[in-house]
Amino acid sequence: MKKLFRSLSFLLVFVLFLTSCKSAVNGTYEGKARGHNGDVVLNVSFENSKIKNVSLKESVETEDVGKLAIEKLIQKVNSGDFNLDEITGATYSSKAFVNALADAIKKSGLDYKKILKNNPVMNEKFEVKEMNTDVVVVGSGGAGLISAIKSKQAGANVVIIEKLPLIGGNTLISGAEYSAPNNWLQEKENIKDSVDLFKKDVEKAGGDKELIDVLANNALDGAKWLRDDVKVEWTDELMFFGGHSVKRSLIPKGQSGKELINKLHAKAEELGIEILTETNAFELLTKDNVVTGVKAKIKTGELIINAKSVVLTTGGFGANKKMLYDNDKEVDDKILSTNSPGSTGDGIKMAQAIGADVVDMNQIQLYPVCDVETGKLLYTGDTRLVGGAIIVNKEGKRFVEELGTRREISMGIKAQTDSVAYQIWDEDSMQKSKILPTHEIEYKNLIEGKKLCKVNSIEEMAEFFGIDKENLKETIKQFNEDSEKGKDTLFNLRRLGFKVKKAPFYCLKAVPAVHHTMGGLKINKNAEVINKNGEVIKGLYSAGETTGGIHGKNRLGSVSIADITVFGIIAGTNAGNNK
Ligand code: ADP
Repeated sequence: MKKLFRSLSFLLVFVLFLTSCKSAVNGTYEGKARGHNGDVVLNVSFENSKIKNVSLKESVETEDVGKLAIEKLIQKVNSGDFNLDEITGATYSSKAFVNALADAIKKSGLDYKKILKNNPVMNEKFEVKEMNTDVVVVGSGGAGLISAIKSKQAGANVVIIEKLPLIGGNTLISGAEYSAPNNWLQEKENIKDSVDLFKKDVEKAGGDKELIDVLANNALDGAKWLRDDVKVEWTDELMFFGGHSVKRSLIPKGQSGKELINKLHAKAEELGIEILTETNAFELLTKDNVVTGVKAKIKTGELIINAKSVVLTTGGFGANKKMLYDNDKEVDDKILSTNSPGSTGDGIKMAQAIGADVVDMNQIQLYPVCDVETGKLLYTGDTRLVGGAIIVNKEGKRFVEELGTRREISMGIKAQTDSVAYQIWDEDSMQKSKILPTHEIEYKNLIEGKKLCKVNSIEEMAEFFGIDKENLKETIKQFNEDSEKGKDTLFNLRRLGFKVKKAPFYCLKAVPAVHHTMGGLKINKNAEVINKNGEVIKGLYSAGETTGGIHGKNRLGSVSIADITVFGIIAGTNAGNNK
């Protein structure tokens, strides 16, 4: 029995030895994957199931960037390092290299997932899809949806592409107030306004007069189109924004861009417009200087959309730190951003790559009262604009006129201890400002996050945020006395008429953030993109925050929704007719 057992064991070891010999991989295998411009083909040789050498057999990647990246990655693998991080600026080539390597390993019969375990082989199957349409709209914020609807109504086939999983962009997270001279609520309230007065208000910031003329003459029609055709519901109150001569801003239901985007989305669906999300445009296609479509990254590879017109509505660059810091030396990491993560200036960069001109790129608007963690614009802070509020620093002292420009206040805050401010108001102002119930969710989140306190005394407030108690009491005492006399002795606050007197008291911790980028692509009044020689780039249109020129040094509150509507309508109609 013992003998039999010994023989069986020997047999087993022998069989194991044979199988292991059989599975040792030797020889050279070819691996192939789609890169930026075409296939990347590698020769991968194995010795005793280990990669011995990798060489590039074939590649049409761009000489400088793509090929260099692949050469670097080859060196890494040949030295035994399999942590193949993407090479900056050559995402596609890097990805293609890893995919081609994986392909060769798979062909050898070895487990590529084990060997490349630190490298997500992003697209096992990199495919290039292609489609044809009349108009492709890049970006699904307000300007994009409006353009698409108008192109479709002009009889064109339209596709919208959006890089994020969600549509709406900055428009969705805005208050979406709309300034329209001579609107129906002004009529009711007997407010005297005119197109010329609106024009003058906007022109003060030094923008392009021809574009402002188009904006002013069409703003009311745009608001009516949204109301009557798209069924956007406006409240029956008007809002007064700084820089406007009269109260002329319509407020959508819920004072939120959701109302606008939801209704535009419904209209686009009703018209059968295709919206492709997670489709990230990165290059404009051209033939003989005419734009013929766009290339986009998708989960499984790449999508080429051939079109007669492209409308760029990718928003601004408020979420692109490099572009912000390069264009405005006063903006740094102490300034957060109110922007949607999609606002990375892609449309501007893609058009610049084919010769488009830009204007006012250094004009960046900041917003002073934003969430200390996320940079989100805080509507609770509107108490400063409506009922009245003061702003102090950690030392309990005022340092700026609370109704100064957004930039003055923002830079003032940036210069204080910890670059934060504390906005303070009382119950009278709270009631007058009607923050609740409209902004109840934000209000509750701020309270829960301990970024806003509601307290019964100034002492409690100082303790809550660690503000200098004695100074704070003195600051409020002096402000209330000044307000009583009707003259702010410290900063000459232009609108008094409020005090910090009636409990409960509120204090909101806030930081400044980048809100709007005024600069962008140069367009003409037909929303056509202009090149550096001052000529129209055929087949290319743009609208909304991607464009520059209208708002000059300072975009007035509620003018951007009028802008995206008026120029979205023009861009969409013209692109739709360009068949
Ligand atoms: P606007 O107010 O001018 O309409 P928004 O910020 O509301 O601008 O909308 C811009 C939209 O464009 C956002 O949803 C953003 O995610 C999208 N976007 C930005 N870059 C790209 C891109 N490269 N490809 C597709 N969509 C993009």
